[in-house]
Amino acid sequence: MIYFDNSATTKPDKEVLSTFNKVNEDYYFNPASPHVKGLETEKLLDSAREQIRKLLKLDQQSIIFTSGATESNNLLLTGMARAKKQFGRTIITTKLEHPSVLETVRALEEEGFIVKYMRFKEDETLDLEHLEGLLTSDVILVAMMHVNNVMGAILPVAEVASLIHNYPKIHFHVDCVQSFGKVPLQLEGVHSFSLSGHKFNGLKGQGILVFSQLKTIAHTLFGGGQEYGFRSGTVNVASAVAMSRAIRLTLDDYEMQRARLYQMKEEIERYVKQFPGIQLNSQQNGAPHIVNLSFVGVKGEVIVNAFSKRDIMVSTTSACSSKRAKLNESLTALHVSDEAITGSIRISLSKNNTAEEVHTFNEVFREIYEEVEELLKK
Ligand code: PMP
Repeated sequence: MIYFDNSATTKPDKEVLSTFNKVNEDYYFNPASPHVKGLETEKLLDSAREQIRKLLKLDQQSIIFTSGATESNNLLLTGMARAKKQFGRTIITTKLEHPSVLETVRALEEEGFIVKYMRFKEDETLDLEHLEGLLTSDVILVAMMHVNNVMGAILPVAEVASLIHNYPKIHFHVDCVQSFGKVPLQLEGVHSFSLSGHKFNGLKGQGILVFSQLKTIAHTLFGGGQEYGFRSGTVNVASAVAMSRAIRLTLDDYEMQRARLYQMKEEIERYVKQFPGIQLNSQQNGAPHIVNLSFVGVKGEVIVNAFSKRDIMVSTTSACSSKRAKLNESLTALHVSDEAITGSIRISLSKNNTAEEVHTFNEVFREIYEEVEELLKK
């Protein structure tokens, strides 16, 4: 099997799995318990937090362990909007966001918040002038992703941070789920960000929220007051320790893996570009692990099934939205035509993939292309 759906999830590293099992066996105690085993477990949790702080070169920020980036994004956006509502009601984001951001801001609209969307120019870059126009005194929150999960577009976090810098009231949240381990994180001027372990060979149900002004946020989860009172619920210590391991492993050979990913991506793009009727949607200067292309005139699902039958796993738009009938919003926001969106597939790579797999993929691509060639709009 060739697994090219790594933006949906990755295979856990053996070391991450064994760490998770070991901690579960040896430290299954509740870190909030007052006895010696509870205290030892709490110490382990603190050291996982400390290690992540060091690895990510964080300063005073708080690290909160969550069940994944969906929870991190939800907790932050809802908690921050509610905490700041006396200062303003406007939230700015992009249509490229993952549903854990888009659906949360839509729910906040029901509470009376106003949501505005940044725009993208025809060349698919963020329209910073348009954003400047949106930055009124009513804005309390700006949320955007660093790397888009469908197209691999890299968004200009540093430029947005420097625009926001002039508005001290605004909280700037960045979803770094698809960028961590793939492109350098841009954290200057960023007030909070989320990561998800299963996107970098960690485990599913494992995330963090990193936050610089914890006291300024409203709580949305109530209970035992764990994680600074912000995320109640018995902490999954084994998951936290395994997450710190996954972060370390990712950073250990990050530069080398990044170069490998770019090589594999370029190899696929160079190959598929030569076929008439194939439209490349991902940009050359995009993230190293995502290729998005369209078989214009054929449904993406048909192509995904054809690959799947040949034991190659690719995806249509993204695992989170591919089962829904509507067209992918991020592709629309980036001016991809409806027909191209319908025929789009995503190939997403990880450090586990090899040049041989890319070679096999390209051969199979030709076979499938020849099968559907007559249907393609050239
Ligand atoms: N943000 C982005 C950009 C993602 O790609 C994903 C996962 N598809 C998430 C958030 C949600 O992460 P999780 O699966 O950990 O909830």
